[in-house]
Amino acid sequence: MTGRISREFIDELLVRVDIVDLIDSRVPLKKTGANYVARCPFHTEKSPSFSVNRNKQFFHCFGCGASGNAISFLMDFGHLDFVEAVEDLAAFAGVDVQRESPSQVSIKSGRDCLGDLYLLLERVAEFYVEELRNAPVAIDYLKSRLVKGEVARDFMLGYAPDKWGAVADKFDQKLLIEAGMLVVKDDGKTYDRFRNRIMFPIRDKRSRIVGFGGRVLNDSLPKYLNSPETPLFHKGKEVYGLYELLVKNPKPQRILIVEGYMDVIALAQYGIYYSVAALGTAVSQAHLDLLFRFSSELVFCFDGDKAGRDAAWKVVEPVLSSLKDGRLCRVMLLPEKHDPDSLVRAEGLDGFVARVQEAQVMSDYFFEQMSFGLNLSEMEGRAQLHAKAKPYLAMMQDSAFKEMMAAKLRDLSGVKAVAVLENNLVSHGLGVNRSRPAEINRLSSSRVAIALLLQNPELAKLVEKKEIDWGGLEFKGIDLFKNILQTILEKKIVNPAVLLEYYRGLPEEKTIIALAFLDVHVVEDKVEEVFFDALSVLLNQAREACVLRLQAKAQTQNLDEQEQALLIAMLLGK
Ligand SMILES: [Zn+2]
Repeated sequence: MTGRISREFIDELLVRVDIVDLIDSRVPLKKTGANYVARCPFHTEKSPSFSVNRNKQFFHCFGCGASGNAISFLMDFGHLDFVEAVEDLAAFAGVDVQRESPSQVSIKSGRDCLGDLYLLLERVAEFYVEELRNAPVAIDYLKSRLVKGEVARDFMLGYAPDKWGAVADKFDQKLLIEAGMLVVKDDGKTYDRFRNRIMFPIRDKRSRIVGFGGRVLNDSLPKYLNSPETPLFHKGKEVYGLYELLVKNPKPQRILIVEGYMDVIALAQYGIYYSVAALGTAVSQAHLDLLFRFSSELVFCFDGDKAGRDAAWKVVEPVLSSLKDGRLCRVMLLPEKHDPDSLVRAEGLDGFVARVQEAQVMSDYFFEQMSFGLNLSEMEGRAQLHAKAKPYLAMMQDSAFKEMMAAKLRDLSGVKAVAVLENNLVSHGLGVNRSRPAEINRLSSSRVAIALLLQNPELAKLVEKKEIDWGGLEFKGIDLFKNILQTILEKKIVNPAVLLEYYRGLPEEKTIIALAFLDVHVVEDKVEEVFFDALSVLLNQAREACVLRLQAKAQTQNLDEQEQALLIAMLLGK
């Protein structure tokens, strides 16, 4: 398990695996023409618009726009992160993941025995479950909270006995320390971290126990105690209850985010199996990214007291930076003196669910909070609102939703230009929808050239043979074109899926994906011809522009030697 996965391995893996076989093993495909089709696994549809292309090793959905290579498919389909997807793909291909040797990357000690740590925590959890059976005091507590046996089983609730060495004396001490289950004193002596507490195992989304939360049975403090950060457990990345939620419903319509373990358990009692809890930390962007993989609607539920209201405002930043089209967040503030447990008891399941469904959408909540205490009928109040809200809107990703938020701010503040919102989709000079009419012709030649190069990496060799002198040439997208060309030649890329992998997470990724799926309407034996036609149009335009530039300069000042040579070359080249 050590080291980073090597780039060469990923390239090889993508060449070795056939995306048609891979997807067919998850979503049965039907052959139609050059492509394989199915009903899209990423959106609900009646007729198939999900298409897989064997030559390009890509999938693409014309309905929802999902697209990518085999790794992207596994990430989206299995809700996996990148490394997990590569591991699964390697397993599918029947090969071991090759990682860079430990000397090449710095690794923390103990990374070798993660498997042992997972196993240890599973055993410890079983031990706590066993202990619960023999602990009337803990059973009484759970009964007082009306926890049913079935729910206790689903969540594997347990009890940590009131002893200093209950787990310390039973399991491997070195592993226990690494897993955060023991406290080590200055003199080297150790004792159980969790004592006389109801124990909540925290599982990651792949069902492995990564840590524990423990709740006291009385009023002593701290009321809740969590495992410390360990090689397995990262509070900022995990949420409590996600695995249990996915067991009941892999595609929940919405996920409710509550404050504590007992809230999750209490709601499950009432059949609400779609809640999770952050682990004693503020909700982070990583939490949101994790949860949005499983549902497009998140509802944040906060107690009605001041602490709850303050906590609600704290989610605004991470939420705004992760919201994009198709994602929805709501904020649900409970009535004063209520938590989810007491409220669902007081109002019943239907009443509670109605509150969840009617919870305020994030945009309303945001502007309500922003406008609080400001007099918007006065210019000063509106100016203050504009100044306060602008930095938040600047955090948002470009999307129709961001534009709507900006429009709302314009309406409320009366300030026409909200500069932070100027769209930067055209940063590569290839903005697909926003090009001005005068540019369309030039854009389309460069788009055709780049799209065909992406879709047919073998063209790069032919371009290389032409020995084009790129000096002084400029056209829309030239940097991207040259960048792709160079990547293909340097990395000896044979198929588009491998090429796409080199741009994962880079600023060019979006443009590249859009162009990789741009239908240029060329039959296969005309690809080369159309590509070089487009390229020569671009080169000619660029040469012409260069000549004009140099001639204009020559009228007012002397050209240096280099410029003269360039001008002559350009004129001869035509
Ligand atoms: Zn789709």
